Amino acid sequence: MTSKPMFVHCCHCRWCQRETGASFALNAMIEADRVSVLKGEVEVVDTPSNSGKGQRIARCPKCRIALWSNYAGAGDAVRFVRVGTLDQPDRLPPDIHIFTSSKQPWVVLPPNMPAVEEYYERTVYWPKESLERRSVLRPAKVRQ
Ligand SMILES: [Zn+2]
Repeated sequence: MTSKPMFVHCCHCRWCQRETGASFALNAMIEADRVSVLKGEVEVVDTPSNSGKGQRIARCPKCRIALWSNYAGAGDAVRFVRVGTLDQPDRLPPDIHIFTSSKQPWVVLPPNMPAVEEYYERTVYWPKESLERRSVLRPAKVRQ
């Protein structure tokens, strides 16, 4: 990632739990042109998503680990980068916890941490700078 992301989601939806085989997914949202692959090519796999609209997951062709997803909303312009796949994942803690209605009960969120039961309104939670970055992206383009 060539800059900091616009926003980092910690998603506790059941779909992310199933996809990760764990309790939540940690996704950094960033413009596609601010992501550079250091080595090799990714393999893009069409995959179902929680919304029913599908997602495209970019995977390492060798180990099949998911590196990022593109969702229907922002299309190819925004990548949801799996924070755990970065060399320095500790630098990107979540900005918000989402879908906490299905959070596993042993996961205890820190006090004063933004958290919503389902999804949220971007303009309420995102910093101004990130909203500006998001607003200049081209309109949603779901499929190439
Ligand atoms: Zn999720």
